[in-house]
Amino acid sequence: MARYRDALCRLCRRESEKLFLKGDRCNTDKCAIERRKYAPGVHGPRRKKVSDYGLQLREKQKVKQVYSVLERQFKRYYFMAEKKKGVTGSNLLQLLERRLDSVAYRLGFASNRRQARQLVTHGHFTVNDKRVTIPSYLVSPGDVIGLKETSKKLVPIQDSVAKAEHRGFPTWVEVDLSNFKGKILHLPSREEIPLPVQEQLIIELYSK
Ligand code: SF4
Repeated sequence: MARYRDALCRLCRRESEKLFLKGDRCNTDKCAIERRKYAPGVHGPRRKKVSDYGLQLREKQKVKQVYSVLERQFKRYYFMAEKKKGVTGSNLLQLLERRLDSVAYRLGFASNRRQARQLVTHGHFTVNDKRVTIPSYLVSPGDVIGLKETSKKLVPIQDSVAKAEHRGFPTWVEVDLSNFKGKILHLPSREEIPLPVQEQLIIELYSK
C-alpha cells in the first residue's frame, strides 16, 4: 500500500499550521511549527501570493494529510459525498471521520491516526466483536469498537488510553475505557468535527 514516508512535520510546515500528526509531541515545544513556521525547502521562508486555485489545493492537501489518505482514495470519498444527501463538504468530512482508524484515534486507543491505522492493520481491533483489519472500514451508528483481549496489554495502547481522558472525546461516541470499548451513537455533524478547514474550497476544486 502506498503511503507518505517523509518527515511528518514537513507536512505541517507546508501548511504553516499544526496538523497534530505525531500525537503527544505536537503539544510540546519540540513541535517543528513552534520553531520554524514556514514551508520547508530553500524557498520556504519567502512570502508568496497564493492564487484561488492554490488556496483550494492547500485546503485539500491539509485534509488528506490529517486523515493520511492518498489522492485516489480521497477523490473516491468526494464522489461518495457528492452522491449523499446534504452538504457535500460536510459529507466528505463525515466519511473521513467514520474510517475505523480515525474512530480508533478519537476513542483514545491510539495517540494519532497513523498509529491507529497500523494497529487496525495488525488486527488489534474488533467491530461488533468481529476482527476488522481494514483502516478505511466505515463505522455506522450502533457499532461497538473494541480491542482483542491480548491487545489490551500493548504498551502503545495502554499509553494512549492513559492520556485519552485528558484529550477528551467527541460527542458522537460513547467511551468505556475500562473495558476498552466505544460505541458510535450517531454520525458526526460538521460542528462535531473539530477540523479547522474550509471544506467548500475542496468542493470548488473538484467541481471545476
Ligand atoms: Fe505537526 Fe505534530 Fe510535527 Fe508539530 S510535532 S509539526 S503538530 S506533526
